[in-house]
Amino acid sequence: MLHAPDYVRAIAPYQGGKPVSELAREYGLDESRIVKLASNENPLGMPQSARDAMAAAAAELARYPDGNGFALKSAISKRFDLPQEWITLGNGSNDILELATRAFVQAGESTVFSAHAFAVYALASQAVGARSIVVPALASGPQAYGHDLDAMLQAITADTRIVFVANPNNPTGTFLPAAAVERFLDQVPTRVLVVYDEAYTEYLRPEERPDAFAWVRRFPNLLVSRSFSKAYGLAGLRVGYGVAQPLVTDLLNRLRQPFNVNLLAQAAAVAALSDGPWLEQAYRANREGMAQLEAGLDAIGVSWLPSWGNFLLVQVAPPPGSGAAASARSPGVAGDPAMPVYERLLRAGVIVRPVGNYALNGWLRVSVGLPEENATFLAALPAAIGR
Ligand SMILES: *Cc1c(COP(=O)(O)O)cnc(C)c1O
Repeated sequence: MLHAPDYVRAIAPYQGGKPVSELAREYGLDESRIVKLASNENPLGMPQSARDAMAAAAAELARYPDGNGFALKSAISKRFDLPQEWITLGNGSNDILELATRAFVQAGESTVFSAHAFAVYALASQAVGARSIVVPALASGPQAYGHDLDAMLQAITADTRIVFVANPNNPTGTFLPAAAVERFLDQVPTRVLVVYDEAYTEYLRPEERPDAFAWVRRFPNLLVSRSFSKAYGLAGLRVGYGVAQPLVTDLLNRLRQPFNVNLLAQAAAVAALSDGPWLEQAYRANREGMAQLEAGLDAIGVSWLPSWGNFLLVQVAPPPGSGAAASARSPGVAGDPAMPVYERLLRAGVIVRPVGNYALNGWLRVSVGLPEENATFLAALPAAIGR
């Protein structure tokens, strides 16, 4: 008999959004008519600047990439005025989250994060045999469903090694103002690493965007992660980065694969990073698409949660009894009344994301798409919820 740790056997694999090709295959639909609003990808596609950079870099593909990612780190360093030694590149920011967990947490120790927080925090913790301390989300008020930072502070125990904070958070779209995060950072014990996940920060209004890199200068126990998968439009390439002081960076660097970010991804990310017009376009398209979804949902009387990301939670069924909500662990669980709605949307060629595995039964997460994609979703929704 092969042996694997119980904590590995207990992991429920990450459930991504259903790929377009899979839906086409399973339901006999025409791929070109399927709308995917399930993975918070950039509906505008990828920037032409990145496409051109990849085409130029393709000639080098027989070679290994630069294992130190000099060009990309230089670009990040210049763009945000950071020392290069503070930057760790990742195969997606997911890689950074995992590296941090492996570097700082061992079996039997604990991590702290909020209910309804990004699924990877639990997965990364479980992968090293750590105990996840899941802190109940705020129940009411403008931050409902969001992180309760005071409760998270209280939840830290002697064996806690990492606290994860996603801001904005996925899948809730909730956002903590900079002042609240700063107060939190001031109070977290310095022996605990705070992983502050900014995958959606580019979608925040400029005036509400926290200066997280300034916090990194003040707090040696802070690691900020950023992604090229969302606003930059490079999800398929897998590239992100972490910013922390050298003591943290040095540890991540010891654990990472020697060539963890591939050559095309490095080239594309350098180009995308300096493509100001692209980011501006992505930001504006998201604002407009979000307004379209909000107005469209209001028009058919469906509730939604205000979101600071490029997606929003839509309540498609009344919440089930708390027992079902508490016990539901994976999408497709019989207890999630959103699943039949999800299925009917699939049949109409619209892929969204069930969130029963986030203990959000009755809700579906919908990514902001192009105007016509949002319209297709809004047109399909009333029938799908039985109106
Ligand atoms: C999408 C996402 C990420 C990771 O994205 P990568 O593609 O691995 O860079 C990280 N955190 C949150 C909250 C996300 O939603």
